[in-house]
Amino acid sequence: MKILVGVKRVIDYNVSIRVKSDGSGVEKDGVKMSMNPFDEIAVEQALKIKEAGGADEVIAVSIGPAKAEDTLRTALAMGADRAILVESTDEVEPLAVAKILKAVAEQESVDMVLVGKQAIDDDSNQTGQMLSALLNWSQGTFISEMEIKDGAVALTREIDGGLEDISVKLPTVLTVDLRLNEPRYASLPNIMKAKKKPLDKVTADSLGVDTAPRLSVVNVVEPPTREAGIVVSSVAELAEKINAARG
Ligand code: AMP
Repeated sequence: MKILVGVKRVIDYNVSIRVKSDGSGVEKDGVKMSMNPFDEIAVEQALKIKEAGGADEVIAVSIGPAKAEDTLRTALAMGADRAILVESTDEVEPLAVAKILKAVAEQESVDMVLVGKQAIDDDSNQTGQMLSALLNWSQGTFISEMEIKDGAVALTREIDGGLEDISVKLPTVLTVDLRLNEPRYASLPNIMKAKKKPLDKVTADSLGVDTAPRLSVVNVVEPPTREAGIVVSSVAELAEKINAARG
């Protein structure tokens, strides 16, 4: 079995985001970028499956600027076998990402695609679902547990009301949630080894996908700043304030 994992280069989750002064987007220049945290979980899961003998190869793919090579090197340092960079200078929207992942999944004859439940920059939560529809494969979203058995995957999904157990047939597209696993850190020797692992570069054009944006950003604004709170001296004073606020 071959597993494809989508890894997106996003602004690091520790960075406090700044909106550009012209309202056209958020500041990315000179800002620390990292692998989308949910994609680290997806890579970890693919590696766990391979280590348990359930897969022969793990391929990481990223769609983005040339710098997304760093994100792929991180996936290789974690343990992925090889990587594919689909270079694009456009801001690639989820539908185009899904079309590209479909083309790569078919070209590589993979049996499973693992992606994050969402990218923390656009928070779209769309790519996995669209990919499953385009491939006409089963889908399991927001998964927190999984086990492969007899050509199917038994899954636990995190849903609003709690947990849901389902089984999906292979080939499948799975989107991973936070509790699925704890991603490993890449060790220094593995970071060095990753520099020599194969990384192919292709363009979206060569895969027949048009990445031109379908959406336009009208304006990006900072969220309103929170007003300062007050310190009350007693529970009675707190109750009084709450009652006054209620009117
Ligand atoms: P989204 O639908 O944008 O919230 O993204 C969901 C998941 O799709 C991410 O966690 C990634 O695994 C995958 N994905 C989205 N965009 C990209 C990209 N540019 N390159 C590789 N994978 C991506």
